[in-house]
Amino acid sequence: MQPIMTPRDCPLRRKGCGGCQYAEIPYPQQLARKQAHARKLLAEWGPVEPVLGMEDPCRYRCKVTASFAEDGRRGLVCGLYAKGSRRVLPADGCPLQDELAEQAVHAVLQAARECRYTVYDPMRRTGLVRHVQIRRGLYTGQLMVTLVTGPDILPGSRRFAARVRELCPDVTTLVQNLNPRPTSMVLGDKCRTLFGPGFIEDTLCGLRFRISPASFYQVNPRQTQRLYELAIREAGLTGRETVLDAYCGTGTIGLAAAGRAAQVLGVELNAAAVRDAQANARHNHIQNARFVCADAGEYMNRLAEEHAAPDVVFMDPPRSGSTPEFLAALGKLAPSRVVYISCDPSTQARDIALLVREGYRMVRATPVDMFPYTEHLESVALLVRTEKR
Ligand code: SAH
Repeated sequence: MQPIMTPRDCPLRRKGCGGCQYAEIPYPQQLARKQAHARKLLAEWGPVEPVLGMEDPCRYRCKVTASFAEDGRRGLVCGLYAKGSRRVLPADGCPLQDELAEQAVHAVLQAARECRYTVYDPMRRTGLVRHVQIRRGLYTGQLMVTLVTGPDILPGSRRFAARVRELCPDVTTLVQNLNPRPTSMVLGDKCRTLFGPGFIEDTLCGLRFRISPASFYQVNPRQTQRLYELAIREAGLTGRETVLDAYCGTGTIGLAAAGRAAQVLGVELNAAAVRDAQANARHNHIQNARFVCADAGEYMNRLAEEHAAPDVVFMDPPRSGSTPEFLAALGKLAPSRVVYISCDPSTQARDIALLVREGYRMVRATPVDMFPYTEHLESVALLVRTEKR
C-alpha cells in the first residue's frame, strides 16, 4: 500500500471516487469556506465562532464501508463505489480512511476469494456477500469486521473467520450481518457473531464506550472528543441539573455529562444503540443515567404531559434535523438551556428559527470540522430561554 499525503494526489480520485469534494482545496481554505457557510446559515440568529479544525486532517475515518462486486478481469473485488455508479474502486490508499481499517478490508477480500464467495444479487437472490464494514476503536485499537451477506448460511464461515484473523491479527471481532432485501441500506436487522464479543469499545472523554455493528458512533474520534467537550461546556452544568440527551445513540454525550449533572435521561430510536447506552452506563459505573427507546418527539410529549422538566437538553438529531413535534414539546418543557449539535447546519438553522418562536435565543454557534476534505460540517449551537413560562 502506497502512503499518500493528501486527497489532492489520491489515485482513487482519478478513478472517479468523488468522496472528497474539497480535494483540490488547501485545508486552511476549506476551513474558511466552512466558516463562511456556517455564517451564512446561522449569523441571523447570533454570533458564529471560528470553526474548530483538525491539526492533521487525514486518515481520520475510523469507520469504513466497502462493497463487493465481480470484475471480469480481477474476479471478486471490494471497495468504495465510484461516484454515481456501482463500479467498485479498490480500497487502496484512501487518504481519509484509517490504515488498519483498510488493511482489514484487504484481509476480508482475500479470505472471501479463498473461500470462493460470490457477490449477492438481491433481485435474483443468488450469491453470498454484499458489503463489509470496519470499525476501529482509535484509543483501544480494537477492530470490528461486519460482513454483510444475503443468505443466512455462510458456507465455510469458520475457515473464513480464521483466515481473516490470520491475515489481519488486529481484528478483535467478526460479525455476520444478514441483509437479503433489495435496499441501499448497508446493514440488515440480524447479526451473528463469528468470533470475539460482537462489539468493540473505544474511550472518549475518559469513559469507555461499547459500539455494536448497527449503532451510531461518530466516524472521527479525535474531533468527537472536542465536539463533546464543547457541547458539555456550553451546557454550563453545576451538578444540580436534570439533563435530557435526545437522539442519544449509545449515550455518549449524556454519559460524558453525567458526572456534572444530578441525573441524565437519554432517548433514542435504535434499540441496539439503547442497549449499548445502558451497558455503557453500567460499565462506567454511572448510576444517574437512564435510557429509553422511543421516538424523541413522542418522548418529549410524554415528558411534557408528566410535567417532568429537564433543565438542559442536548439534541443531536440526524442530518434531516429535528421535527416540529419535538421542537414544540421542547418549547413546552422550557429547559433553560438547549445545546443543539448538528451534522447539517441548514436543518439546524431551520430548527433554530422554530426554537426562537418557542422563546429561545441563540447565544452562539461553533462550527466543528469533523469531515475534512468533504463539504460536511458539524455545528454546536447554544440556545437559552428568554421567556418565562
Ligand atoms: N448523540 C449520538 C448520536 C447522534 S446520531 C452521538 O453523538 O453519537 C443521531 C441519532 O438519532 C442516531 O443514533 C439515530 O438512531 C437517532 N434517531 C433518529 N431518528 C430518531 C428519532 N425520531 N427519535 C430518536 N432517535 C432518533
